Amino acid sequence: MSGATVRATGIVTVVLAGLLASAYVLGRSLVPEQHTTTTGVASSTAGPHYADQPPSTEFPAAPGRALPDTSPDADPSAPDGGDDGPGPFGARTATGSARVALTFDDGPDPQWTPQVLALLSQYGVKATFCVVGENVESHPDLLRSIVAEGHTVCNHSWRHDVNLGKRSPETIRADLLRTNDAILAAAPDAHIAYYRQPGGAWTASVVSVCTELGLTPLHWNVDPSDWKAPGATTIEATVRTQTGPGAIVLMHDAGGDRSGTVAALQRLLPELLSRFELEPLPVDAP
Ligand SMILES: [Zn+2]
Repeated sequence: MSGATVRATGIVTVVLAGLLASAYVLGRSLVPEQHTTTTGVASSTAGPHYADQPPSTEFPAAPGRALPDTSPDADPSAPDGGDDGPGPFGARTATGSARVALTFDDGPDPQWTPQVLALLSQYGVKATFCVVGENVESHPDLLRSIVAEGHTVCNHSWRHDVNLGKRSPETIRADLLRTNDAILAAAPDAHIAYYRQPGGAWTASVVSVCTELGLTPLHWNVDPSDWKAPGATTIEATVRTQTGPGAIVLMHDAGGDRSGTVAALQRLLPELLSRFELEPLPVDAP
């Protein structure tokens, strides 16, 4: 090979490497936080869409195709309703008494949270709202209503990062504290006693940070998968048949079309009240 050919080959290699690096950086910048948006959640509303399904970063859904219910990232011991055993990494799955706790995740949402609050008020039921920091920042008035009406709040991370537990303790701590700060900025008298990991994707790191910050890791043991919008009848039947004494029921007041959840709740509240005492998770006895 002549010297000129060697030089030319070297230049081509350098140029190609540069182009590849640029394409990679551009690609990364074009698909930020894909895991929070490619959840496969059908929705008719604008705004952030998340749900407590397992992490999906490594397995993004093809357009128009639903994600599998589980991914290899999910803790296989994660209860999927009706399981009274300990939650992943010791997260709480029962109220500790015969009382039942209804929990609503991913809000506050301007369309659905007021409807859930109105139903709870109509039946005199207090519940627990696991709120997302960026949604609290966008809708502080709704957070104030939740607290003012006697419900308890639970930290559900800043932006519903299902992979938060895999990040550094410093990143996890900063995320949880930012969310707590947003809650307290909206409602200074709020007591934040719980943290719920998005997707139920608990790790030892996230539980360790919870302990450090005095937050009880909160899971669930009844999951009607309402984030998949299976319809009010399915949501209602799952909750009605799987809820027993001490249950923590997972539902969503945000993250997509929650009309099915609202309609199911309308039927469930009188039915559950005929069998159980319903309570907000207590802030003073985590
Ligand atoms: Zn969630």
